Amino acid sequence: MNKNKSVSFSKKDFNRDHRKIGKKLKFFVFSDRVGTGLPLWLPRGTIFRKNLENFLTEVQEKSGYEMVITPHIGHKKLYVRSGHWDKYGKNHFNPIYTPRKEEEFLLKPMNCPHHCEIYRSQEWSYRDLPKRFAEFGTVYRYEQSGELHGLTRVRCFTQDDAHIFCTYDQLLEELKKVINLVFYVFRTLGFLTYTVRISLRDPKKIDDYIGSKTNWEKAERDILKVVQEEKIEASINYGDAAFYGPKLDFLIQDSLGRNWQLGTIQVDYNLPERFNLYYKGKNNEKCRPVMIHRAPFGSLERIIAIMIEHTEGNLPLWLVPNQVVILPISDKYVVYAKKILNLMSSYNIRVFLDNRNEKINKKIRDSEEKKIPYMIILGNKEEKNEMMSLRRHGVGHIGIFSISNGIESILNEINLKTKTIKLL
Ligand SMILES: [Zn+2]
Repeated sequence: MNKNKSVSFSKKDFNRDHRKIGKKLKFFVFSDRVGTGLPLWLPRGTIFRKNLENFLTEVQEKSGYEMVITPHIGHKKLYVRSGHWDKYGKNHFNPIYTPRKEEEFLLKPMNCPHHCEIYRSQEWSYRDLPKRFAEFGTVYRYEQSGELHGLTRVRCFTQDDAHIFCTYDQLLEELKKVINLVFYVFRTLGFLTYTVRISLRDPKKIDDYIGSKTNWEKAERDILKVVQEEKIEASINYGDAAFYGPKLDFLIQDSLGRNWQLGTIQVDYNLPERFNLYYKGKNNEKCRPVMIHRAPFGSLERIIAIMIEHTEGNLPLWLVPNQVVILPISDKYVVYAKKILNLMSSYNIRVFLDNRNEKINKKIRDSEEKKIPYMIILGNKEEKNEMMSLRRHGVGHIGIFSISNGIESILNEINLKTKTIKLL
């Protein structure tokens, strides 16, 4: 679980402020009528967010995860069982009442209890494990209004959540796989500097955490062991553990040298006990699985805010909503422009045509302002020779290409992430 620590902004960071750039890019807005801290995703922001989801879904499916979907609310008793009600209930959204007396639901503050119930919905044997359930699960927390900040601290956010249920013998291997997946995701998104923090209980406040002393000692030992075996440099932070288990937290450094807490991995012996989860062992005996909670981004809102600030809005080509804009210098070249548009669309390039009756310089300026990575300029010379002039945002003119070479070079850049970075 992310602590979503707020980050202070100096004046020089202002131009990178994701709230300002996000508005310019038409990614998201807030409305007082809807409520503070509740982002509204606009069509362009939704494409970007979906692209991130698709990327992570693909990585996770390759790594043996199965996607699930759970409701946005759950019975209060569910969260009493999990311990979330005791821990968070009073400081969050009030329960939702129904016409039935004494029936109360809560807006989902975490996905874990729902995933425990998915696990419990059928019998598992040791041969079936590990089970890895992943969900882009939207959760709700009543953050104080003074603490809300753009997308980095909101009241409704979507976690790239997953819960792994495994045997004790599988635990270290599973933790290593999760760590590798987190590092892979960071590198692919262009975050090359990161630090790792081990978050343990506050020894003076043992009563703030659920579960037995033995379970906690086991979980803390497991986390320390995997960090040691993977030769990961990590600092130890007492008092920042989740209330059900210790954590490994990942902090990335952005282009301004600021540290942001993103992904987290937690080892949990307690929720499997509270939910009475088990699997059948080799001799048909009932055994308790161990649970790993993990979220590489923390939340989609948070990673998008950080990516915008890290890149000053010049987001990776493979993720942006509009990759290419075609700019004919006059109406005479619209037919040729449409031919290129159709061809590029057939290669799944996200391209659109700007055929407004404006001067070409104005169209280029507008495209630069929107930070559209590629501009294709078409005039007499280009049409006659079946060529295209290419401009790169922030670079300028990069050359005149044949249609096939132009498309190929753009496709190469789109596919670059999968070519240069190996999965696990
Ligand atoms: Zn969880």
